[in-house]
Amino acid sequence: MVQAYKHEPFTDFSVEENAKKQEAALRQVEQELGKDYPLIIGGERIYTDAKITSINPNNKDEVVGTVSKADKELAEKAMNVADETFEWWRKSTAQMRADILFRAAAIVRRRKYEFNAWAIKESGKAWKEADGDVAEGIDFLEYYGRQMLEIDKGGEVNSRPSENNRFEYIPLGVGLVVSPWNLLFAIMAGTTVSPMVTGNTVLLKPASNSPVIAYKFMEVLEEAGMPSGVVNYIPGSGSEVGDHLVEHPNTRFVSFTGSRDVGVGIHEKAAKIQPGQKWLKRTVIEMGGKDTIVVDSEADLEIAAQAIAQSAFDFSGQKCSSGSRAVVHQDVYDQVLDRVAEITKGLSIGDTSKENYYMGAVIDQSAYDKIMSYMEIGKEEGRLVVGGDGDDTNGYYVNPTIFADLDPKSRMQQEEIFGPVVGFTKATDFNEAIDIANNTDYGLTGAVISNNRNHIEIAREDFHVGNLYFNRGCTAAIVGYHPFGGFDMSGTDSKAGGPDYLYNFMQAKTMSEML
Ligand code: GLU
Repeated sequence: MVQAYKHEPFTDFSVEENAKKQEAALRQVEQELGKDYPLIIGGERIYTDAKITSINPNNKDEVVGTVSKADKELAEKAMNVADETFEWWRKSTAQMRADILFRAAAIVRRRKYEFNAWAIKESGKAWKEADGDVAEGIDFLEYYGRQMLEIDKGGEVNSRPSENNRFEYIPLGVGLVVSPWNLLFAIMAGTTVSPMVTGNTVLLKPASNSPVIAYKFMEVLEEAGMPSGVVNYIPGSGSEVGDHLVEHPNTRFVSFTGSRDVGVGIHEKAAKIQPGQKWLKRTVIEMGGKDTIVVDSEADLEIAAQAIAQSAFDFSGQKCSSGSRAVVHQDVYDQVLDRVAEITKGLSIGDTSKENYYMGAVIDQSAYDKIMSYMEIGKEEGRLVVGGDGDDTNGYYVNPTIFADLDPKSRMQQEEIFGPVVGFTKATDFNEAIDIANNTDYGLTGAVISNNRNHIEIAREDFHVGNLYFNRGCTAAIVGYHPFGGFDMSGTDSKAGGPDYLYNFMQAKTMSEML
């Protein structure tokens, strides 16, 4: 019997011993930087001439590692291996598959500081964020393992005296998993093992900004006893390998987390039936957000200010859940804005792979340039209160930024910036605040800071987001506690870390035997 699921505790880095361990792990990982990693197809290590170079966003000159790059031919090879492996893997026991996840969780837990260090190096995130990322990855392993054991008990259907009925879930086939760089460990691991534990085989194409930690995770899966061919590691370009596999007739499903443009493109391509294809592909797609924190006039304004700052600036606002909009009741607008500005000015920014700063650099040059272009738009559309600048000399540092007095329909309040930028908009009353909160194409997360029970009830009914929080920030969903996924252009609302997530990768079979 497995123990009941409980989420992985976070590390307290204000405890000196923990901070020392993290520093030591960073120094240890520094000894291992710059290595070259192969593809893994059917357990075979394959080196290619073409490479993807992964760098530390905090320090552009530091190469985290280089990885081989799959092309169409190698993608084809991986598809063949995954297809063949599926033929026996689909019949493996749920218990065996779950045990691989439990063992993998234990291995990562033992090496947590090291995995934190890889996450810091490869994404530029702060220690607390890296630790949360790795803890969430462990949670996905523990949680999905347990969920699989539950599903394996079979669904409840009735039988009759002369008839024995069964209802079981079986896997789908070969799936393509395209994972993001922001939760480079958690989402990569979660989206890989969820189809795997349900009996599917996987082609894992990690984000090109964070392929090294994904390789490290492949090694963990192998150590935990994952047979070769079950998960195949094939970094590559989206337009070459990604599109080829999305359109491949043998692909049964695609799981994608990333930008709206790419997600929409995948959904469209997957919908088209290819010659030789005999199913409708499934897509599990998690895209962006333009997430709002609503502050009521009757509210704890300190909670409001802390929630806004934390949701906007944790990991430099590079979460699809990040709170990039604050919609504040006119009676408390100035007060909340002033307090958020004060908190923001106190945030530290620097090379998190050297020291425990609150935030590090953003992921790459194109992210930096995009965020900087929004600084100009913000100055035209609103009032710059704090920040508005950055420095990309050594790394891609963007200062936490606040724009005030924005029109709810302004570009700043409609478009996903994916950086440390929050826009303030004033609302005349609570109902208007909820209307503004709902006025984007997205519907991922949202928060309401209010002490008015009536208003909380209104928000429960009318605030149209997949993850709605009260009197707290709108990021940091925990596996098994806050199933995560959004409405509308945020994606397919496939709730990661929720009780029905694994069904995305299974189909139900009814069997009825006459006695
Ligand atoms: N699940 C994460 C959160 O609640 C965000 C995931 C993402 O950014 O992709 O903050």
